Amino acid sequence: MDKVQKWAYERRIYDCMKVLEERQYDPIFAKDKDEARKIVMDMIPEGAKIAVGGSVTLNETGILDEIRSDKYNFIDRYNTKSFEEMLDKYREGYYADVFVSSTNAITMQGQLVNIDCTGNRTSQIVFGPKKVIIVAGANKIVENVEEGIKRAKSVAPMNARRITHKTPCATDDNIKCSNCTVQPRVCNVTSICEGSTYFPKRITVVLVPETLGY
Ligand code: SF4
Repeated sequence: MDKVQKWAYERRIYDCMKVLEERQYDPIFAKDKDEARKIVMDMIPEGAKIAVGGSVTLNETGILDEIRSDKYNFIDRYNTKSFEEMLDKYREGYYADVFVSSTNAITMQGQLVNIDCTGNRTSQIVFGPKKVIIVAGANKIVENVEEGIKRAKSVAPMNARRITHKTPCATDDNIKCSNCTVQPRVCNVTSICEGSTYFPKRITVVLVPETLGY
């Protein structure tokens, strides 16, 4: 990455971390995606029951590969034989020791903004798993909730395409949102996490001065 872009990302992260600390999150700076992976894996004890949110960032950082190691009790949402079995794994995730995910946006006012299809990711960030670890590139940092929702909506067609949901925005010739009502719509639930004050430090946010995910 260009050095100036990296510097700008770092400055933005440092400013964002101050606000996250005030809101009782546990923000951590990682200099690159390799350090982010090490920080995350060092936080998870052997044998921990782990659930994950669907995330390009977890793939790009190699975190998902490490979670698949025999050292952990991974609730593997990607290894299911049916829709019902997948939903059961989502439900089991509420009792995980650790939930690892990225986020659609982090605001400079300390909110985590997410839009989901089933709502498992949006809800498990907010409550359920004892510990939540969010990993995000600086490209996810926005000014406020309005921008966060706009950002999440703007990447929804790519997410629909990635998970092969047949939505009108993910066809070969269209990427525009039509506020659809089809069954596989990926924008069914929006969550705004205002902070971690009731459960201080429950949510760790690992911020990386790189472009990760979308
Ligand atoms: S509401 Fe429907 S068309 Fe719009 S981004 Fe979401 S899935 Fe795509």
